Amino acid sequence: MALQTTIIGYPRVGAHRELKKVTERYFKGLASSDELQAEAKRLRSEHWKKQQQAGISLLPVGDFSFYDGTLDTAVLLGIVPERYRQLGLSSLDTYFAMAHGYQGDKGDVTALAMKKWFNTNYHYLVPEIDDSSVVSLNASKLLDEVAEAKSLSLRVKAVVQGPFTFLKLARFTGSKSISDFESSVADAYADLLSALQSAGVEWLQIDEPYLVRDLDAADIQLLQRLYSRLAARKGNVKLLLQTYFGDIRDVYNEVVALPVDGVGLDFIEGVQTLDLVRKNSFPASKTLFAGVVNGKNIWRNDYRATLSLLDQIKAAAPSAELVLSSSCSLLHVPYTVANESKLPQEVLRHFAFAEEKLTELTELAALFGSEVSSSAAFNANQSLFNGSRVQPNTAVRDAVSALKPSDFTRLPAFAEREKIQKQQLNLPLFPTTTIGSFPQTTDVRENRRKFKKGEITQQQYDDFNKRKIAECVALQEELGLDVLVHGEFERNDMVEYFGDNLDGYVFTENAWVQSYGTRCVKPPVVWGDISRRAPITVSTSVYAQSLTSRPMKGMLTGPVTILNWSFPREDVSRKEQAFQIALAIRDEVLDLEKAGIRVIQIDEAALREKLPLRVSDWQSQYLDWAIPAFRLVHSGVKPETQIHTHMCYSEFNDIIKAIDDMDADVITFEASRGNLLILAALKQVGFRTEVGPGVYDIHSPRVPSVDEIKVALRKMLQNVEISKLWVNPDCGLKTRGVEETAASLRNLVQAAKELRTETK
Ligand code: GLN
Ligand code: ZN
Repeated sequence: MALQTTIIGYPRVGAHRELKKVTERYFKGLASSDELQAEAKRLRSEHWKKQQQAGISLLPVGDFSFYDGTLDTAVLLGIVPERYRQLGLSSLDTYFAMAHGYQGDKGDVTALAMKKWFNTNYHYLVPEIDDSSVVSLNASKLLDEVAEAKSLSLRVKAVVQGPFTFLKLARFTGSKSISDFESSVADAYADLLSALQSAGVEWLQIDEPYLVRDLDAADIQLLQRLYSRLAARKGNVKLLLQTYFGDIRDVYNEVVALPVDGVGLDFIEGVQTLDLVRKNSFPASKTLFAGVVNGKNIWRNDYRATLSLLDQIKAAAPSAELVLSSSCSLLHVPYTVANESKLPQEVLRHFAFAEEKLTELTELAALFGSEVSSSAAFNANQSLFNGSRVQPNTAVRDAVSALKPSDFTRLPAFAEREKIQKQQLNLPLFPTTTIGSFPQTTDVRENRRKFKKGEITQQQYDDFNKRKIAECVALQEELGLDVLVHGEFERNDMVEYFGDNLDGYVFTENAWVQSYGTRCVKPPVVWGDISRRAPITVSTSVYAQSLTSRPMKGMLTGPVTILNWSFPREDVSRKEQAFQIALAIRDEVLDLEKAGIRVIQIDEAALREKLPLRVSDWQSQYLDWAIPAFRLVHSGVKPETQIHTHMCYSEFNDIIKAIDDMDADVITFEASRGNLLILAALKQVGFRTEVGPGVYDIHSPRVPSVDEIKVALRKMLQNVEISKLWVNPDCGLKTRGVEETAASLRNLVQAAKELRTETK
């Protein structure tokens, strides 16, 4: 009999981003909550239907979310900070207030902090637990979804985030800590189990991705206490402890000994998973959920390799029941290759998105233990792996292998450059700037849409963007900003735009992936070796500079971010891919400089994102090539050219030396939504790069006051030398509206001005 199959979770925004669209209409008051709920329900049932049609045995329920699963877990546990409760909104609107802030007649509150979800480009909301928080189960969302699934006669595997991961990710804002809440949290999960038993649920999958991180003895004891307590009243519901994004080398034996019925392990990113099972075996009485289909990549699974892996798993755990699963939730891949009409079949046949991965799972389950050579599915699959997918570009390969140490070193050294640049640019104290993009209003997107559809000519398209640039420059001059930007109207996405102009990339039409809340991205695909065809941004930057005497920043995306926000190829190392991209962007930097651009920003928004989850891998697996890739891009410029970089999220305390080693002249980053810890760290390590810690949160529409910004700046001055502090928002403004943007920037400039006077 074929093995059983399941997946850890499915994407939820809809193949055509239906959920995003209706949610945004709801935010604007253009859709009712009934409409929103109905669309969500329709999407859930469609997603289950797809899984059923593919033959998946056990279907996840509860993986749906209006915004984020960690936020859902906070709500499930009744952990809603007072400031949101006080607004007196409906439960749905309270949820959205936590997700993205609220500014209206009921009050003015910022959103919860948002952070990268492990090593993905997905973001979760950080739950806040204060001293007055009281944990109490509020399972209506999950139970409603279970009822929905039951009414469709599905075999249900309810899904929640686990107590260990939740407590480790939460922020404790008062004097209490995990130990004050662990019992009540475990009890809430126990209550949930009872409720699910009454609802007739077969399995409960508890997601504990935090277990793939470095754990200490206290963590392991916490895990054991939580699970023995929550499983004490377990009843008939079978418990699956699900891990993903790596292996659980620190806690394998303890995990398989927990009072659970199944353990889910990642055999893709978990480089040691197979060895762990081999060396320590796996309890015969438990079910092993084996993550063997990659939940993050878009490439077809190699059936021969996977079947051999399954043989080895079976040999290592001969008596355990085996269920085939994805390596993580399919949330991180697009919906289906079937919605791609432009790419040739030659390319598309190598791709597997969520829907295709479902089929891979059921095909693998059927193939396992059978005679494969006569199987059409097996043979079709193997024809993809005969080495003919793409031929190398020898010029690019040679350029990368010819790189020498001096190609990675910019001269003269930082301090000398800083002096030269201060003279040449002649900026005031607390120079003001923005991160690059200005609001992508409807007309901007409409212009792009028309151009893509062939309804307008290139000339018309460019002329429109030029008008937008001129307006944007005029606005910035009127606001009084010091270093200007052109606004990035020609860019749909900071990575896609560059990928579009580089050979070696291919693009999809509908391969959207959720990044946070209603925001989705469409990562391009590294198909072959990468090279620059022709200058990409030069004419735009030159035009923008021609409109002003103030410095106009050239705006580029860095190689690490381009790679991290693409789907990388898997037949060539990430280092090789990053260096190929770096060489292409390096040419662009030098062309901008030649064309008279004096300040060039090379965004590395996603540098922190792919830092390995285990500290021992940071240097050798990542920083050793990522930082050099960035240095390669700008090492060729003149001393007077000022290189900026931007990183989203200030969570880089731990790699702060590496950030300084990027050797940029100025770095801007997020510091408003999280805490200001990073600033103390800057001081501690004697950070030399000038810094612009974002003074307000652009992920929310609220307008910061002048005073609020001054307070933030004064705090920054406690740790940052006055001559090194820049004033800017924390990220690009493209998702914001025009009015709030102008109002916010006006306050930002005003705050900088007042501070200049006050510090004189
Ligand atoms: N320059 C980009 C922008 O402003 C940076 C975006 C980002 O950091 N994600 O849109
Ligand atoms: Zn950013």
